[in-house]
Amino acid sequence: MNIRVNGIVNDSIVDGPGLRLAVFVQGCSHHCPGCHNPDTHDPMGGRLMDTGEIIGLLDKNPLLDGLTLTGGEPLEQADACILLAEAAKIRGLNVWLYSGSTYEQLLCTPGPRMSSCWRATTRAPRGCWR
Ligand code: SF4
Repeated sequence: MNIRVNGIVNDSIVDGPGLRLAVFVQGCSHHCPGCHNPDTHDPMGGRLMDTGEIIGLLDKNPLLDGLTLTGGEPLEQADACILLAEAAKIRGLNVWLYSGSTYEQLLCTPGPRMSSCWRATTRAPRGCWR
């Protein structure tokens, strides 16, 4: 499955606990005031990757503690992010997801994808960063 990403950091120590693969997903429609990552907003920016390539990065680094899905708004490419989160969990890694949506907004999002996302992630820091 394809996912559009702004960038990937293979050994992040600032995007959650321990050593992490941080995937900066491209595309965000929240437009929070003071956003630190405005280059991630354009849904057609960044570059396309196959999720298999990213899972391969998980397998290449035995020191990883977890996967962080950030952006951008990961939930605007929810299917690909769920796939990555499930692959990470199978490998014993914890998963953090940074979303610009509030808990209440996510609860109101229809469809089975959100419940899959909750199951697949360990933590979901949420709400716009202002
Ligand atoms: S959700 Fe994140 S990337 Fe999107 S505008 Fe808000 S702070 Fe920026």
